Amino acid sequence: MASTPPPPFPASAPVPHGRPDDTASRSREGGLGVAVLGSTGSIGTSTLEVIAASAGLFRPHLFAAHTSVGPLLEQARIHRPAWVVVTDPAAAATIGATALPAGTQLAVGPEALDDLVGAPEVDRVVSAIVGAAGLRSTVAALEAGKTVALANKETLVMAGPLVMRLAAERGAVLLPVDSEHSAIHQALRSGTADEVVRVILTASGGPFRTASRESLETVTPQEALRHPTWSMGPKITIDSATMMNKALELIEARWLFDLPAEKLAVVVHPQSVVHSMVEFVDGSVIAQLSPPDMKLPIQYALSHPHRLDGPARRLDFRLGLRLDFEPPDPVRFPSLRLGHEAAARGGTAGAVLNAANEEAVGAFLAGRMRFTGIADVCARVLEGHAYQADPSLDDIRRLDAWARQEVVTWVSS
Ligand code: NAD
Ligand code: MG
Repeated sequence: MASTPPPPFPASAPVPHGRPDDTASRSREGGLGVAVLGSTGSIGTSTLEVIAASAGLFRPHLFAAHTSVGPLLEQARIHRPAWVVVTDPAAAATIGATALPAGTQLAVGPEALDDLVGAPEVDRVVSAIVGAAGLRSTVAALEAGKTVALANKETLVMAGPLVMRLAAERGAVLLPVDSEHSAIHQALRSGTADEVVRVILTASGGPFRTASRESLETVTPQEALRHPTWSMGPKITIDSATMMNKALELIEARWLFDLPAEKLAVVVHPQSVVHSMVEFVDGSVIAQLSPPDMKLPIQYALSHPHRLDGPARRLDFRLGLRLDFEPPDPVRFPSLRLGHEAAARGGTAGAVLNAANEEAVGAFLAGRMRFTGIADVCARVLEGHAYQADPSLDDIRRLDAWARQEVVTWVSS
């Protein structure tokens, strides 16, 4: 099948924030090589749609998944990456000798993934593994000086200062995929850092935006997994229902944009069209709007500093558009306070909150914990931990394990 050559990125476009612009040269050499970590997930599959629609500007180089071997092999047959990585060795052992398409090699285990993300053929790494498991491969990509499109917010929640320092030392670039942070990244281009008075993250409010406090006590996993505006993986969908997702995003914004916690605010916006806003010193509020479709922030993080025509849905103002905003309710959604607190404290607070939450969400999905128990146990574990102001990665890993064990103990009692 004849294919039209990809339109080159404009070589002379300005590069904001002094970031290296490798897009022009690379797009002439057969596309920017993309490694998709967590390719079988919600963000991963949307990323493959963006790559497929790019007319060769992006070249699939590596796909990685944990246990979902069937979907990963199907992706390999369609997109023909040079590598597939299965991080779970037991799952990898089920792959037959003839299962891989010609031209695709298999690697097994998280160590292999760490090595392969640093390969010279990789220009962009999409970090879309879910949870704390995403930290190590993101760190490996930054150590290799790569440009990372970061969906795995847990990386910054757990180790924000360390990760930002590492990126600066290695000349690596972190670009947000989270829709709120993508919106903030875009809006921040309207002024200087000292002109910013407030960054306002929007939250859909999740499926229980109007639910009574009493009814939250008896919420089932099925009810909590029914998100009104976004289709996402199960962990982040539960986080959206408790609003812990917004708590994690406050911490993510704190480190990604180097903003003090008191400049960060949350507003509930049920339509999920305004993805976040920046208020400047003169009172101007700059927002980014688009339908709730992750393909847009994924593509923006891949094509930055340029913009491309792409597969994301578009707003149609002829159909009418209503935008509502309301303050969040801290009584029904106590997670938000924990996010503000952890963003203000820094140190080990984010890692402990994240680990406790991950374990609690797992327990809730398994029917071993009440919905309202998630924020309760997170508050206790956060409060009771041995805080450190400037932890190493080892300190973070140790406290991550400690926090999970605390939740396990709490559940079994
Ligand atoms: P998902 O559950 O749909 O997919 C997770 C992916 O990670 C899968 O490919 C899975 O194989 C892989 N994975 C799981 N455990 C792993 C492990 N231990 N080691 C290696 N790989 C592992 O998750 P998702 O909804 O796509 O979310 C991915 C990340 O993106 C999360 O950090 C989430 O917070 C963030 N994010 C997602 C959305 C969204 O719309 N889904 C939006 C913003 C941010
Ligand atoms: Mg988000």
